[in-house]
Amino acid sequence: MKIIIAMLKHETNTFSPLLTPLESLGPENGGPLRGEDAYAYFKGTQIPMGAFIDLAEEIGAEIEIPIAARTVPSGPVSQDAFDQVAQVICDAVTAGCDALLLDLHGAMVSEDFEDGEGELLERVRRAAPDVPIGVGLDFHANMSERMVQNCDVAVGYKTYPHVDMYEAGRRTGELLLDMIAGKITPHMSFATCPVLPNILRMATNEAPMDAIMAKADALEGGKLLSVSVFPGFPLADTPHTRLSALVVEDGAAGEGEHACREILDIAWRSRNEFIYHAAPFVDAVARAKALKDGPILLLDLADNCNSGGTLDSMAVIREALNQGLEDVLAGPVCDPEAVAAMVGAGVGAEITLPVGGKMDLHALERKGDPLVLSGRVTLISDGRFTVRGPVFTGMRVDLGRTVVLDTGPMQIVVSEERIEPLDLGMFRMVGIEPLDKTYIILKSKIQYRPTFGVVSKHVIDCNALGVGSADFNLFPYKSLTRPIYPLDKNTEF
Ligand SMILES: [Zn+2]
Repeated sequence: MKIIIAMLKHETNTFSPLLTPLESLGPENGGPLRGEDAYAYFKGTQIPMGAFIDLAEEIGAEIEIPIAARTVPSGPVSQDAFDQVAQVICDAVTAGCDALLLDLHGAMVSEDFEDGEGELLERVRRAAPDVPIGVGLDFHANMSERMVQNCDVAVGYKTYPHVDMYEAGRRTGELLLDMIAGKITPHMSFATCPVLPNILRMATNEAPMDAIMAKADALEGGKLLSVSVFPGFPLADTPHTRLSALVVEDGAAGEGEHACREILDIAWRSRNEFIYHAAPFVDAVARAKALKDGPILLLDLADNCNSGGTLDSMAVIREALNQGLEDVLAGPVCDPEAVAAMVGAGVGAEITLPVGGKMDLHALERKGDPLVLSGRVTLISDGRFTVRGPVFTGMRVDLGRTVVLDTGPMQIVVSEERIEPLDLGMFRMVGIEPLDKTYIILKSKIQYRPTFGVVSKHVIDCNALGVGSADFNLFPYKSLTRPIYPLDKNTEF
């Protein structure tokens, strides 16, 4: 048996000023990986790609990885990049295989297609109509009918923070192999609910998602082979952006449809709990100042790059300095220009320079706003480390050249690349022990919880400025299907 494994994974923030060209579709700098390089990179990782490889090897299948492309959330994928990656996958499948396993996100927008995954899957299906297709999806997928129509099985993560990415991939592969072996006849039911949940209200160990996921778990079993719930990614302005449920059923008895309905009924009844009420961030910083025992996390939510943030908003950092917070660690802030200037100055140099705020946020009609800082360059690093976990364990991270600027009250980590602070190693790599700091300003929303969250004494949400903002009223939605709750109070389900 020959199995093709491929990845085109992007969560597109359509309000981001950063277009996503082929070169930035990593997994590391320099574009997509292929063949042996992709295998070496993803073998052993705790994501669907890693699970697909393990599963194929366990059954002695021949593996081909024609391409693996992904990057952190940013603006639309360039049409050229999308077309190139899609063509490589189509060509590989057309050349012959017994199955295709795809590691996709499910909220990708290209310059020409609002439903990137739907377009990709349709192209593959057209190229090789008989090849069974299994798709592993992110919890934040904006699922579309077109995606469902053009694959055989699809399974989403069940956790946020995502700690079951491997399991979701494994389940996808197992179901597809069972189908090929004739053990099951998968039928997918899919339904949506006109709710736009706030990302900050999607944690699966809290209301309202905990009850929804418990229901999904309870429904799974017997003929219901897999039950996925997708709260979606609200910062992708597309017609299919919304909460949805997807059930893979053995046979087509209609139980799947009923299960979708049960889940969506709970979600609809919980719709008010999906609203996040942001306090003014200046007050949040003041609240942090009144606390003494650290580490105290200040979450710069709006600039979280895993929501598409530019990772260069200085609003929270500026406010923390203005209010006189001390013993602060902040970062990473993405600013290649500042990195170049500090590398040029060298370790030990005293320097005054503008940091961050280089990106204009056109969608929000806000100009970039750099912060002029004076301090000493204390360390220059190549920005590479391997994640120790407990999530993304084994993943190699490349922040590009990374510099520590010490301003006295604050140590700021400035990098060339945009990566969410997903591991304590991100600061240990540059010789800083985050647990020793009183304050840590982190550009994160929920994903910090298994790492920074469990070692912090306090966590303060600071919703300042950025295209990852928790305030939906900032965003000029155009494609979103209306009415949708809570943007439209008259929404019905
Ligand atoms: Zn996600």
